[in-house]
Amino acid sequence: MKILISGGGIAGLTLATYLLKQGITATVVEKQKVFKDARGFGVAIWGNGRKILKEIDLDKDLAKKGYAFPYYSGLNNKGKELCHLDMKKFGEKYDETLFINREEFHEILEKGAKKADIRMGSYIKYIDEKEDGVSVTFDDDTQEDYDLIVAADGINSYLREEIFQHRNLKYYGWTSWMFWTEHISQPPQGVVQVLGPSEYFCLYPVGGGKCFGYFASPAKPNTPETREERLAKLHKSFDDLGWKVPRIIDKIKDPDNIFHTDLAKVETKKWVTNRIALTGDAVHAFCPLTGMGCSLAMEDAWVLGEELKAVDFDPQKVSQALKKYEKRRKKSVKTVQSTSQMIWSICGMRTNFARKMTNLLLRVFPGSWKTKLWTYLLERILKQKI
Ligand SMILES: Cc1cc2nc3c(=O)[nH]c(=O)nc-3n(C[C@H](O)[C@H](O)[C@H](O)COP(=O)(O)OP(=O)(O)OC[C@H]3O[C@@H](n4cnc5c(N)ncnc54)[C@H](O)[C@@H]3O)c2cc1C
Repeated sequence: MKILISGGGIAGLTLATYLLKQGITATVVEKQKVFKDARGFGVAIWGNGRKILKEIDLDKDLAKKGYAFPYYSGLNNKGKELCHLDMKKFGEKYDETLFINREEFHEILEKGAKKADIRMGSYIKYIDEKEDGVSVTFDDDTQEDYDLIVAADGINSYLREEIFQHRNLKYYGWTSWMFWTEHISQPPQGVVQVLGPSEYFCLYPVGGGKCFGYFASPAKPNTPETREERLAKLHKSFDDLGWKVPRIIDKIKDPDNIFHTDLAKVETKKWVTNRIALTGDAVHAFCPLTGMGCSLAMEDAWVLGEELKAVDFDPQKVSQALKKYEKRRKKSVKTVQSTSQMIWSICGMRTNFARKMTNLLLRVFPGSWKTKLWTYLLERILKQKI
């Protein structure tokens, strides 16, 4: 079977690695000349993602480099703890969640897929889907035919737009900034989240005193921002959050080290055509708060690989395999999306009143109840069968 994967991100490289293990060398076209955007931020890999990494023999590499954070702590803007999750206990049941610099994680996946035909700086210009295959024209005007095209080209997927003639991208109404820091005094061991009236901040330690910080606040989409304005804007929007937030912003000296992006989600009715399958963010990007995007992208890649294997990689049976892939993934991903939406509704308040009421509710609930609520929400995600 001749397979073309568009996008050498999390889903694309996971699938390429899986296929290599089955003796199939897929072609991967990656638009970037080098994986520079992979540097942007840190990612959490949950038990469900690690299960896939174990299947493709890469979990031990993650275990060497990832940081297992011992707890998650949610604070209000006065620094009072509203909820606390013991991640160690959680890890005993679902495997430890590991936090890692995205660049390092990408290198692990690149290592797995290194024998695939990876073409950097290349992308699809046109596709012509026929009953027995897909004709592809690349950016350099060369043409090739494939039995299957896999869209793993991320949240702004070209292939999704091409197939559905629609972007299927919905803005959350929030924008976000991410940065790395090594210089804050007494960095926390666990993840700390601070919930303000219409601001959100989270600090994720990755070990060795290094942390990844994440700010979010409501904004109109594509609100312009120059590098000169950026730090002042962060101070203006987030100083009121209290805790260590103003001092953390003070430590960011170079605005170029801040990665800024609007928060958007993707929802599509269909995941596949007869010869094209969408995977990862291309088909189900959603709010990054639960940190599940990478784990789900890997699950998609693995399930797709398994369904292709179930038809013995027979080019005549691609459509059959794709239908099964969609059926297996759609329902459980929907549950993860809706649960993330619930978590987002608790964390992403737009008004002072809504935040005060939510914080009040969280405060009057006994600690054990709050832990139960967060445990319930996370387990609802992790219990999903693939
Ligand atoms: C702020 C933020 C924080 C996040 N935190 C976490 C977290 O903690 N844990 C987690 O699991 N997830 C997190 N995510 C989500 C996670 O990054 C994504 O869900 C995940 O990367 C999706 O993998 P993917 O393979 O679908 O897409 P990507 O990893 O985005 O890969 C897409 C690839 O396709 C390439 N590409 C794009 N267009 C084309 C084209 N036309 N042709 C060829 N190549 C193309 C891109 O360059 C890229 O390499 C976060 C996301 C954001 C925005």
